[in-house]
Amino acid sequence: MSKGKVIVVAAPSGCGKSTIINAILEAGDLDLRFSVSATTRPPRPGEKDGVNYYFMSEEQFRDAIAEGEFIEYEEVYPGRFYGTLRSDVDRIINEGHNIVLDIDVNGALGVKEIYGPDAITVFIEPPSVAELRHRLESRGTESPEVIDERIDRAEYELSKAPLFDRRVVNDQLERAIHDVHNLIDGFTSL
Ligand code: 5GP
Repeated sequence: MSKGKVIVVAAPSGCGKSTIINAILEAGDLDLRFSVSATTRPPRPGEKDGVNYYFMSEEQFRDAIAEGEFIEYEEVYPGRFYGTLRSDVDRIINEGHNIVLDIDVNGALGVKEIYGPDAITVFIEPPSVAELRHRLESRGTESPEVIDERIDRAEYELSKAPLFDRRVVNDQLERAIHDVHNLIDGFTSL
């Protein structure tokens, strides 16, 4: 049995990344599992521990770092840590399944360095920063200060897009889902 592949999807917050990944997972035609990250941010309404994230205290997160449990981790926002657990990723690819990681740009580039040709990095772009602000405001889950913080972060992340293997602009959701689906299909059938 051959090992599974690693698909790393990064995008500024509000680019539709989760929607795109969920649509592809739900379509169910690709042998794809979702990598559940650990985070110290609190759950949003509807999010479940062990499904969307492993929600940890800062102390639990620091212990996991000290134990070498993360492939990569980042302080994506001040005081908010996110990390990919080595045990989950390696178990899934060793079982021959492909895994999709929804992580920030720096984490994505770090994972590519570790998995090399067994990984592909995909960057989802918004049509523009103004459109991104509009989407974040209409999602209504974040305060104005958090939205400003996310826009600053998005501008930084957009500057890293050229370092990714593939780029997909999400100006039309159905087309973006189709494009990302096809490129995962192509990569995992290699
Ligand atoms: P959110 O708080 O909106 O769920 O996620 C914020 C950002 O953290 C997103 O860009 C998401 O992809 C990223 N993220 C989620 N999990 C991880 C992880 O394990 N590692 C890294 N580096 N970033 C992550």
